[in-house]
Amino acid sequence: MAQQDDVFKKIISHCKEYGFVFPSSDIYDGLGAVYDYGQNGVELKNNIKQYWWQSMVLLNENILGIDAAIFMHPTTWKASGHVDAFNDPLIDNRDSKKRYRADVLIEDQLAKYDEKIQKEIDKAAKRFGDAFDEAQFRATNARVMEYQQKRDALHERFSKALNDNNLEELRQIILDEEIVCPISGTRNWTEVRQFNLMFKTEVGSTAEGASTIYLRPETAQGIFVNNLNVQKTGRMKLPFGIAQIGKAFRNEIVARQFIFRMREFEQMEMQFFVKPGTELEWFSKWKQTRMAWHQALGFGAENYRFHDHDKLAHYANAATDIEFHMPFGFKEVEGIHSRTNFDLSQHAKYSGKKIEYFDPETSESYTPFVIETSIGVDRMFLSVMCHAYTEEQLPNGESRVVLKLPAALAPVKLAVFPLTKKDGMPEKAQEIIKDLRFHFNCKYEEKDQIGKRYRRMDAIGCPYCVTVDQQTLEDNTVTLRDRDTMEQRRVAISDLRGIIEDKVSITSLLRKIDN
Ligand code: ATP
Repeated sequence: MAQQDDVFKKIISHCKEYGFVFPSSDIYDGLGAVYDYGQNGVELKNNIKQYWWQSMVLLNENILGIDAAIFMHPTTWKASGHVDAFNDPLIDNRDSKKRYRADVLIEDQLAKYDEKIQKEIDKAAKRFGDAFDEAQFRATNARVMEYQQKRDALHERFSKALNDNNLEELRQIILDEEIVCPISGTRNWTEVRQFNLMFKTEVGSTAEGASTIYLRPETAQGIFVNNLNVQKTGRMKLPFGIAQIGKAFRNEIVARQFIFRMREFEQMEMQFFVKPGTELEWFSKWKQTRMAWHQALGFGAENYRFHDHDKLAHYANAATDIEFHMPFGFKEVEGIHSRTNFDLSQHAKYSGKKIEYFDPETSESYTPFVIETSIGVDRMFLSVMCHAYTEEQLPNGESRVVLKLPAALAPVKLAVFPLTKKDGMPEKAQEIIKDLRFHFNCKYEEKDQIGKRYRRMDAIGCPYCVTVDQQTLEDNTVTLRDRDTMEQRRVAISDLRGIIEDKVSITSLLRKIDN
């Protein structure tokens, strides 16, 4: 674990050192759980967004995009339930004065049982080799059975407490499981309390005439209130979807783990409207589609898993998370929810407007059901960074840090270096950039020795580097170096675009998921 913490710290400092992510208002020592994206971060983030947007809007004729405002009529949040029910159960440790989400403390405890079980299995698998039968081991090994029994009992008690909204029971579980505060190491816990996560502000110039509004805590409601607008102006037939990328705000109390949990973050959400009764079929289809989107990045299927929800939100009839293996464990990156017709019905009720769909096939009108796919851009960014960050020992005894980013997501696709700053090499290098910059992001670098320039490009995940040397001036060829293999080959300048463009384009990813 300590080793994993170490890696995570290195990733955070790498993000700062190489212009990916800075603490917000850095010169004032930062602002808790708020971050700024730097020159490389914004490119990577934009590429992630583009990959998502195009996979939704470009590849699906029946999905349209919108960009709704952050501020919404305050009744929106009454209707959606956020004013009354968007709460986290919080508990404080009296010694460290730190505040935690009670449900997260208990989920961490469940994960500990899983880790213990896994450890026993790994040990036995090593001991028995090919003859190892995991199912049989799980069913017969006394220690594993004991852990499993404890885990299942905890799980059942936890789900019930959540479903009953029983705060006292949540606290009792924390005491019974002897969960300690990671900072103080004590069990000196307060009561569990509810806390609303929405930020409030006021519109209007004077305090008297002002009215309270909220910064949206999710982008989804902007889609629901526009359902009719898009359905009518886009002449959409069911099933159809509306996609949106935008900022969301939550006054998160437990602000830990870098950009994993922020107070201002970005979501990519798609609400898919379907005929009632077909929602679970669509839920399962979107589960597969979204998992394929993640796996097309090539990070390895073993690093993802579904986590089906025990406690369903007040609006949902099925829900799952796609979790990614971060250095601090499997964590939610995306949520997929079958939200029934809850939101549209609520908005119809509160606005007094009919939000229905007339089905020409059956000649009936009904309120569509909704499948939501909701992914955090920042969490996705973090998962990409965590997977890409690699420390390598080289055969010559040196070491390097390289970001093995999928080329389509890399902030810079091609770096062009003149070998020296004379003999017209810089001019030739600039000429190459001038020609290729229309097709992908290029960077010119002339400072330091070539080896150092390669390292700098490795550190930002640039997939290709080109060097202009004496021979270039004679025959218009350059050396092209591959980031991952570090192999260099001589190619004609006129072939560069053909070799690079397709490999670094978002289209290369989209092709993998389009079927
Ligand atoms: P968590 O349980 O981690 O608080 P959630 O279940 O409340 O997350 P959703 O409301 O389903 O999250 O939001 C959808 C997605 O938005 C999440 O999967 C996550 O990627 C992202 N997200 C939610 N809250 C935050 C946050 N505070 N910072 C960054 N991303 C977030």
